[in-house]
Amino acid sequence: MDKDLVYAINAYYKLKRKFIEQRKKDKANVIKKCLKMNLKPNEIKEKVKTTVNSQKCIHCKKSQPGRPGTIFRRKDEKLKAYCNLPEGNKCDFDIEINIGYYESNDYLLDLNTTDLKESRQKIIKLKMDSLYGFHDDEAPEVLEEKFNEEVSNFNDSNYQNIFYLKNLYSITANPDKKNELENVEKQMFELIKQIKESNDNNEKVNIYINNLRPILDRYYLLKYDTRYVEKIDNTDIFNYITREFNISTLEFDLGENTPGVQKFEPSYGRK
Ligand SMILES: [Zn+2]
Repeated sequence: MDKDLVYAINAYYKLKRKFIEQRKKDKANVIKKCLKMNLKPNEIKEKVKTTVNSQKCIHCKKSQPGRPGTIFRRKDEKLKAYCNLPEGNKCDFDIEINIGYYESNDYLLDLNTTDLKESRQKIIKLKMDSLYGFHDDEAPEVLEEKFNEEVSNFNDSNYQNIFYLKNLYSITANPDKKNELENVEKQMFELIKQIKESNDNNEKVNIYINNLRPILDRYYLLKYDTRYVEKIDNTDIFNYITREFNISTLEFDLGENTPGVQKFEPSYGRK
């Protein structure tokens, strides 16, 4: 995966975490204040809601009642974030990253796992809220809709994780492949031994061409993802290129659009 893209995704989630942390702090502060004022639970809930909905923009620090200052949204293959103040008042904070679907940069697997955990927490909370009736200002059907949406988010993340892990496993830790490799190595050594021990040159060549050569091909295919001979222009020099499985082998872009950073305003400290 492109380093800039990884960097941008990292920066995006850092900002998102900062925004969520700020929201938690704002919530805790307003609850403390309300408790000092001896407000009733319903009044506290109202104040908390107003505070959360009026959180400052993470970039310009401006706020407007009833309008969260920054919107972070992950939809399909895009990560988006922007200043949510009204036109004329909003700042230039505006991010759009097409992440593609990669398997399995460990980082993305981690991010997905975080999503999964967050989603699970939300589901538990919604379930508890509905069980204990902490939803006085929300109609049951609204609650149910939220619940269903969250369950669907959870299933998406879960499906993605299983898919990522399966692919990672099939490439790196597949016991079938390991067994085959061991088997092929054994055959190779056996054939080499036969060639060494034979006194008949014809037999040696035959074993090499008919038996050892195909085994060697299989061996390299299992062990390396790339193997080719490259001739350096205008010379008689040939380079034999092999490349063992590396992290880029483990990345698959399954997205429909080319992954990349569409917008990241203002710049995130990288030239
Ligand atoms: Zn702003």
